[in-house]
Amino acid sequence: MSIVALPARSEAQRRLAEETFDVVVVGGGITGAGVALDAVTRGFRTAIVEARDWASGTSSKSSKLVHGGLRYLQQKEFGLVGEALKERTRLLANAPHLVTRMAFLIPLFGAAGVTNEALAKGYSAALTLYDKIGRVDSAMRHRRIPIDEVHALVAGIDIERIGAAFVYHDAQAEDARLTLAIVGTAVRYGAVACNYARVVARAPGGVALDDGRFVRARCVVNATGIWATEVMALDDEPTHRLRPAKGVHLSFDNARIGASVAVVLPARRDKRSVFLVPHGLHQVYLGTTDTPYEGPLDRILVDPEDTEYLLSALNDWLVDPMTETDITGSWAGVRPLLEGVRSARTADLSRRHTVVRSSSGLVSILGGKLTTYRLMAEDTVDEVAKVLDKKRTQCVTANLAIDELAPPTAAWAVDHEQAITVADVLERRCPTTLYDRARALVEAPQVADVLGAKLGWTEAQRADQLRAFEQSAGMT
Ligand SMILES: Cc1cc2nc3c(=O)[nH]c(=O)nc-3n(C[C@H](O)[C@H](O)[C@H](O)COP(=O)(O)OP(=O)(O)OC[C@H]3O[C@@H](n4cnc5c(N)ncnc54)[C@H](O)[C@@H]3O)c2cc1C
Repeated sequence: MSIVALPARSEAQRRLAEETFDVVVVGGGITGAGVALDAVTRGFRTAIVEARDWASGTSSKSSKLVHGGLRYLQQKEFGLVGEALKERTRLLANAPHLVTRMAFLIPLFGAAGVTNEALAKGYSAALTLYDKIGRVDSAMRHRRIPIDEVHALVAGIDIERIGAAFVYHDAQAEDARLTLAIVGTAVRYGAVACNYARVVARAPGGVALDDGRFVRARCVVNATGIWATEVMALDDEPTHRLRPAKGVHLSFDNARIGASVAVVLPARRDKRSVFLVPHGLHQVYLGTTDTPYEGPLDRILVDPEDTEYLLSALNDWLVDPMTETDITGSWAGVRPLLEGVRSARTADLSRRHTVVRSSSGLVSILGGKLTTYRLMAEDTVDEVAKVLDKKRTQCVTANLAIDELAPPTAAWAVDHEQAITVADVLERRCPTTLYDRARALVEAPQVADVLGAKLGWTEAQRADQLRAFEQSAGMT
């Protein structure tokens, strides 16, 4: 298995300016990364450019679940669930070093083993269908468990409030690291990849970057998530609308909760569910909210109402309630949902994707999920092939291994993963900030020393970098 090693940015910049590509992918989140890998492995000369850092948009702010989404069954989105579960199986096979199986507990309200039996039957039927669609083997099939087993799975849960409980299996991945690994795999197959390269204009024959370079390409793919309509508007009136939906996560010390499995917690307030997911040996995170969002896309904040909603959903289940002072980290992101169904709740909007080609030939991929990025990429590159007039190109990513990442260190991140800021290292290469902000703030000066020495920072630049990191770490 190969280890991801991106070229230096200067080398990537040189190649972007000198070569001519079949396709340039704009946007370095999971979607753009997937498109670049699909395109290059079909034999297209491929470039990918990202305005900020790899995965710095929504692809580092998700719930980090590789799943079909049990709740989409409730919305009768059987096709979407089926596609996503197929992709889950593929990811578990193609990236076993990054995507891991995880057990999920579903507790149902009730008391001393008594619950609404109709509700329990409903869950049992949904889980049976979920396992069937996901074609899970017998060891992974869901089961109803006795209430007294719950305590062994989550020590802090108040079993007096539980009437029934189920365990089923899904999967989890550190989203930003998965994105980086896919970019790296695309590079190994020959793609040119450059972060901190923003597309500011589109002209026949390619795109202009904010540093004045022009990237020549026969086809341009817009994979910019929540920014997609901005990029569409560079040369045309956008044909589709997005309805951004904000989602927030909070992290805690797992010693207080004692979760050895993930938990799906039904939230009483609005009949949604939130996930409580163990992370590493010591942390656990909780999310997510799902609310319409109209604020700035580059600065998404955790508001007091988000915190209050999540704490209240969690505390309904705990013996020892959590407060704001127990929060060790947090993050907020915005889903790139497609405008469609007329619904007041963004939670009811479909997570489907669509590929559209504008009259000028720009191919845009809109909507979707982390889990289905590969399928989204396949659909996108099928359209690219039409633009390039290549009739027979075969997608090969269904069984393509994703490269491994080296253990995350600041030095490796600068030398081989195009990291150039403290946040690149502490929010994405090794995302300590999301789970344990205090530890990240302690580590930040050492990370700044390594980056500063390698990138030739002055003392003033180092201080600016640290200030910017402290501000952004305190914001989310
Ligand atoms: C709270 C939350 C929870 C979620 N949980 C899950 C989950 O558990 N499982 C799941 O499957 N999905 C989940 N999702 C959905 C998933 O995270 C997104 O669908 C996915 O990350 C979107 O990836 P993307 O690449 O399309 O967008 P992004 O990751 O946002 O990437 C777009 C990139 O384009 C770049 N860009 C923008 N403009 C330009 C430009 N002009 N030039 C160059 N680059 C540009 C941006 O900087 C950005 O990095 C969740 C989403 C949210 C918000």
